[in-house]
Amino acid sequence: HAKEHDLVFIRYTETMKKRTQSKVELENDMRKALLRGEFFLEYQPQFSLKTGKMVGMEALVRWNHPKRGLISPGEFIPLAEESGLIVPLGEWVLRTACRDTRNWQIQGYEPVCVSVNLSMRQFRQYNLADKVDAILREVGLEADYLELEVTESMTFDIETALSQLQSLKRLGVHISIDDFGTGYSSLNYLKNLPIDRLKIDRSFVKEVMLDGNDAAIVSTITTMAHHLKLKVTAEGVENEEQLNFLREQNCHEGQGYLFSRPVPAAVLESQFLSRLAG
Ligand code: C2E
Ligand code: CA
Ligand code: CA
Ligand code: CA
Repeated sequence: HAKEHDLVFIRYTETMKKRTQSKVELENDMRKALLRGEFFLEYQPQFSLKTGKMVGMEALVRWNHPKRGLISPGEFIPLAEESGLIVPLGEWVLRTACRDTRNWQIQGYEPVCVSVNLSMRQFRQYNLADKVDAILREVGLEADYLELEVTESMTFDIETALSQLQSLKRLGVHISIDDFGTGYSSLNYLKNLPIDRLKIDRSFVKEVMLDGNDAAIVSTITTMAHHLKLKVTAEGVENEEQLNFLREQNCHEGQGYLFSRPVPAAVLESQFLSRLAG
């Protein structure tokens, strides 16, 4: 048994070593990637469930690694967060999303709002609002067309979250709570924080037709949002049944593969943005 055990142990340490190596490698690669322009954005359109009209889009970062090809944000965002690289990367995402959105307005497309994800590290920056303000001025985008997505965990320290969100709201940007329902924050903060929207996490939407509990959760979140005068968006809408259920609940907006996957900027422009009349 001793032998077997040793083997398992060796294999274990080797995998661990490889894992940390590739982690360090990936972190180093990421540093260069920002300078080399290997990151790009995709946009996922968001639709009014009432009118079917496109009302906004979420910017999602992508990394085209020279050797490994496309790496999903689920893999590199946590690393970027850990190493602190998320701060310059997040700023690049924000600037690029705002610039694209402004350029589409200049080209005569109907203006829509762009949503940008904020990470914990970014949210903790004392000068975040100044940075957002500087970027909006630099690209000439009105604050009204920018929505920042934060998660429940960022509101855990309520004092800091309140002052940070108030500074952002003073600029005129909108705030949404992403992945709503998956965090463990008290509902009390909902009435105290200056937020505009709840985004129902896609884990609840996924089984809404199969699991009565998920249906109850989606219905409850939607009703609560209405009472609190918040907008509500369902994430991960993949089929007509889910869409119909969400419509019955008067959920305002939806985002998901049923409408569209996240697409490159050029595709969003040609397939989803509409020209202003006249
Ligand atoms: P998220 O903010 O919850 O973004 C939505 C994710 O759900 C996206 O994954 C999107 O492609 C996926 N999705 C959209 N519709 C559907 C659907 O109908 N079904 C399913 N199964 N999935 C759907 P993606 O692009 O891989 O991003 C994963 C996460 O990475 C994001 O989750 C977000 O937390 C993070 N992320 C992406 N871009 C950024 C960024 O620029 N900054 C930060 N801080 N995080 C980002
Ligand atoms: Ca999001
Ligand atoms: Ca989400
Ligand atoms: Ca998510």
